[in-house]
Formats: sequence, C-alpha cells, structure tokens
Amino acid sequence: MAVNKIDSLRIDILNAINEIENRLELLGRNDTIFGFVSSKYIKCGKINCKCERGGQYMHGPYYYLRMEPEYRYSRYLGKKIPSAITEGIDVGKRIKNLSVKKKKLLEALEKLENI
Ligand SMILES: [Zn+2]
Repeated sequence: MAVNKIDSLRIDILNAINEIENRLELLGRNDTIFGFVSSKYIKCGKINCKCERGGQYMHGPYYYLRMEPEYRYSRYLGKKIPSAITEGIDVGKRIKNLSVKKKKLLEALEKLENI
C-alpha cells in the first residue's frame, strides 16, 4: 500500500476511535446497567395457597434484574419493569457495542503500524 493511503486510513481510524470515545463519554453520564431482565413464576410458600399445585397456579410472572458477571437474579423488580431499568440496560448495551467497535479499530490501527 502506498504511504499516503496508509496515512489517510490511519487518520480515518483515529477519527472513528475519537467519535466512539465522545459517544462513550456522553453515554457514561447516564445510569448504566450491564445485565438483562428475566421473569419467573414462583411458589410463595404459604400453606394451602393455590400455588402449591404448581404450573398455572403459581404467582407471577415477576421480573428480576440479572447483572454481570454471573447474571444471578440479583434484584427483584416486581410485576412491571421500571422504565429506568430498561433505559439503564439500553445504555449498557450501547456502551458494550461501542467498546467492541473501539477494540476492533485499535487492533486495525496496530496492524497498520506493522505494514
Ligand atoms: Zn402462593
């Protein structure tokens, strides 16, 4: 590859990295959640409750927040998912996607340095 082409490619990559960093900084001002929501039906444990029969008689579905790194049922949310949780998870996903893109760009930059 001609030197000027490599230079312009390098500048493009650096600009893309810079743009990602700006977006990450903006996203970082929001409440971020790295995880997801899942639901389950439960037995309450009360004697003679209908839920003892299982299946359709169980209570729920109840929502739980499952967070990194183990994705355990770490926080009980109730019967509705609070919008702040949905938004926080969305921010977390966007941060992750941008971080992956940034990593790939940095790898491309490193390969370019070795040409
Ligand atoms: Zn019950």
